[in-house]
Amino acid sequence: ILPQKSMTEVSQDVMSWAEKRKAEIESLKVVDNFRRDFMQNLSHEIKTPIFAIQGYVDMLLEDDVLDDEEEARRLLKKVHKNIERMTHILSDIDEIEHLENGTQNLNISKFVIQELIFETFDSLSIQTVKKNIQTILKKGCEYPIAVYADKEKIRQVLINLVINAAKYGKENGHIVASVYKLDEERVLVEISDDGIGIAEDHVPRVFERFYRTDKARTRKVGGSGLGLAICKHILEAHGESIHLRSKLGVGSTFGFTLPTTNK
Ligand code: ADP
Repeated sequence: ILPQKSMTEVSQDVMSWAEKRKAEIESLKVVDNFRRDFMQNLSHEIKTPIFAIQGYVDMLLEDDVLDDEEEARRLLKKVHKNIERMTHILSDIDEIEHLENGTQNLNISKFVIQELIFETFDSLSIQTVKKNIQTILKKGCEYPIAVYADKEKIRQVLINLVINAAKYGKENGHIVASVYKLDEERVLVEISDDGIGIAEDHVPRVFERFYRTDKARTRKVGGSGLGLAICKHILEAHGESIHLRSKLGVGSTFGFTLPTTNK
């Protein structure tokens, strides 16, 4: 026979149950708000290119425009660019979903981080040359260091960081990569630019999905607002982290760590 509970014990049980429920409801509310924000952001991001496409197609459908091959081609190029933008946003969202659900396994291999940095600079030379930005591996950082990570995912991190450094960098500026050995097990990779920089109050938030410091400007230079959120997820999946130091009008340095041993 179970011992009878006193009224005080019963009321304590009820209170702790009510508190637990309250905490559960609070955490459900947070998830719900998060979902709602995400859907709002997503719908806004997708609406912008869709409205643009609609506008260009309407213009194309006007009789005299179709007769003017040059004008028609110009409008079609705009349609193409906006479709590309939408595809980019959707594939970034796909990527983030996979990373968050842990449905993407890491394919760990050993590679030299400096080689990957050079390959990234090379593959983005169209973007950097356009603004006459010099890409440099900092002096003293040439000594090859092997890391253990998912090479293609780290390539994506580097591409996102270097593209941002070019997008928010100034004409004739510099993008500097540095690699430092922190200890026997870890390296620090930094990508610095001397561009527009980020104000102090935005710094902690730029890794959030869709967060932008200046919506009008960043939308003009393109991008999904998901690049840094993807970088953060990729590094967290490796058990590593990414951070940012920045000064408005001076430039930004993004740094992330990688393991040098196969854990
Ligand atoms: P986006 O696609 O908008 O570039 P990201 O997630 O890559 O999205 O970056 C989020 C925001 O952080 C950008 O919109 C921009 O405001 C800011 N940002 C990122 N990198 C830099 C940088 N190197 N210099 C200045 N601002 C940056």
